[in-house]
Amino acid sequence: MKVGILDGPGRLALVERPSPHAGKGEVVVRMAACGVCGTDLEKLRGNYQSAGRLGHEPVGVVEVVGDGVSGLVPGERVFVHHHVPCLNCPVCRRGDLTFCPSYSRSNIDPGGFAESFRVPRENVERGAILRLDRSIDWATGSLLEPTACALTAQRRVGFHAGDSVFLVGLGPVGLLYARLAAALGARWVGGAELSPLRRAVAVAGGMTSVIDPREPGAAESAVRAATGGDGVDLAVAATGSPVALRLAASLVRRGGTLNLFGLPDAGSRLDVDLQDLYLRGIRVVPTYATTEREVGDVHALLVNRRLDLSGIVTHQVALDKLPEAFALAGNPDAAVKVAVTGPAFHPS
Ligand SMILES: [Zn+2]
Ligand SMILES: [Zn+2]
Repeated sequence: MKVGILDGPGRLALVERPSPHAGKGEVVVRMAACGVCGTDLEKLRGNYQSAGRLGHEPVGVVEVVGDGVSGLVPGERVFVHHHVPCLNCPVCRRGDLTFCPSYSRSNIDPGGFAESFRVPRENVERGAILRLDRSIDWATGSLLEPTACALTAQRRVGFHAGDSVFLVGLGPVGLLYARLAAALGARWVGGAELSPLRRAVAVAGGMTSVIDPREPGAAESAVRAATGGDGVDLAVAATGSPVALRLAASLVRRGGTLNLFGLPDAGSRLDVDLQDLYLRGIRVVPTYATTEREVGDVHALLVNRRLDLSGIVTHQVALDKLPEAFALAGNPDAAVKVAVTGPAFHPS
């Protein structure tokens, strides 16, 4: 079968590998779609410490069910979560599940950009396979993981209905975060984004205040107008850029929260006025990844039509053309979210 792998720094390769087998307690899934994440792009650029496998937003069809697995049958449409917390260590017991030391060691094999992949026993046992409702198409299903990352973030930072939110960066995860915050009752959601295409998708999705951060003072005046000059309850750096982080920090109200949501480059430094943060009582909260609970909650929001993610996947590209999918995903003026499609994909 075909598999997309990192073949050294900056080199993406499609290679032939033997199809996976389902051992005891394991499941093999035939891939239908898998989103290209910003972290996949960063891995390819060599910017992400957690190098290795590509593709972690997969949906597909159960192909083989190993001995001892109950409740799943071949042919079922599923979402699969690649990482699972141990649920047993001090970090997990405190509820910080995505920061569990063994969380990012678990993974699907050989990754999501493969015709089929094996789901290890620990993932199966800890609920990483979720049945996908018929009402959710493959492309939308591939957004479950990144949207759940936004939900995990919103819970960790203490987001409430009625809060005002400003996002710096409206790439795929920024847009998902914004749609989710609006669906969960945000009073106002504004955002800044360099790419005109992404700004247009934000506006089409219902955001009324979307600015180009190169326009001097535009973010500040949008936030001032929306909050009576106070600043937002929650500002989100939805890109790893230190410039974005500085802008986001400047837009938070006194006592408000700055969510460090986008992946910063390894070695990058926080360059903000610490006395300003101190005197204004700004909480800086990094958030990372998600768990089955939030994936299930996002799934329910979609099934109940409380959340609409249409328009965010702009391209569906077959696994055979993986380099093209990565080129598109890496070009903010050409695409928003790119879903790679596999052999189980049938357009609905
Ligand atoms: Zn991701
Ligand atoms: Zn743990």
